[in-house]
Amino acid sequence: MATIGFIGLGNMGGPMAINLVKGGHTVKAFDLSTDAIARVVDAGGQGADTAIAAATDVDFVVSMLPAGKHVEGLYLTGDAPLFDVVRKDTLIIDSSTIDAATAQRVAAAGAERGIDFIDAPVSGGVGGAVAGTLAFMTGGSDAQFAKAKPILECMGKNIFHAGDAGAGQIAKACNNMMLAILMSGTAEVLNMGMKNGMDPAVLSEIMKQSSGNNWALQVYNPVPGVMEGVPSSNDYQGGFQVDLMFKDLGLAADLSHASASPTPMGMSAKSLYALHKANGNGGLDFSSILRMYQDS
Ligand code: NAD
Repeated sequence: MATIGFIGLGNMGGPMAINLVKGGHTVKAFDLSTDAIARVVDAGGQGADTAIAAATDVDFVVSMLPAGKHVEGLYLTGDAPLFDVVRKDTLIIDSSTIDAATAQRVAAAGAERGIDFIDAPVSGGVGGAVAGTLAFMTGGSDAQFAKAKPILECMGKNIFHAGDAGAGQIAKACNNMMLAILMSGTAEVLNMGMKNGMDPAVLSEIMKQSSGNNWALQVYNPVPGVMEGVPSSNDYQGGFQVDLMFKDLGLAADLSHASASPTPMGMSAKSLYALHKANGNGGLDFSSILRMYQDS
């Protein structure tokens, strides 16, 4: 069993750290919030007073932070960079969703110091974090991936090696841009059907059995009442927030720009989510994009 420093114990990181404890590992947990640390301690983890204390003399460090500036600050550019204290045989796994350029820059700075840093963002949301069924998209070498895999398997079900440093973040940005396109397109046509007198449940079933079938129709229908147990049937509470989808579309837009890849569909979805967020819907589940069409 390994000793693991876990930094960033929010909605995602908290349950992920607890699943590592359940997997039999020793977890040294740190967050800026003492309440977040206390939840992991209650589950059998050890609390750490600082990020340095969590990351010193451990086999792995896992971080789950809001954005690239937090990750770069923690490891490289902050007041007490972890790259100055981690053992050379510690593998650092950053599971935050951040821009690929920052992930590559931090990995390269680690490599210069002989420190292994990989990106391993996740898909699956808070439910997947609690259930231990997340998908991990990992960017790093074959050896780094092989070493990380047993640890990631305590927190997830599908563990992918996406490619070299940064490839996990690229895969995540591509997936979430696709998700935004699928969800807004699905909302668009369901609204059109309803405005032309169709029952959305009947229309959804027809499309599910036809060439318009997609993930949103299968498991995440955006029309309230069509499907049980999804955010649309709970006033768009829970699920994956518009704010987070907007953040991820920004990361995808950065990638598109940096590589001069045309993404007109993705940019349309990003504009829709920007308007929806500006209208005060940032805290709702992302399937609430249906309301953009209904209210216009
Ligand atoms: P969150 O805001 O709930 O948690 C972030 C945590 O990081 C907070 O507890 C905060 O106190 C802590 N933190 C910030 N800076 C810190 C620092 N310097 N040192 C220690 N702790 C620090 O966010 P979340 O929903 O857990 O998301 C975390 C990451 O996972 C984000 O990158 C997000 O995009 C990604 N993600 C979230 C979801 C989701 O559904 N929530 C799904 C997939 C990926």
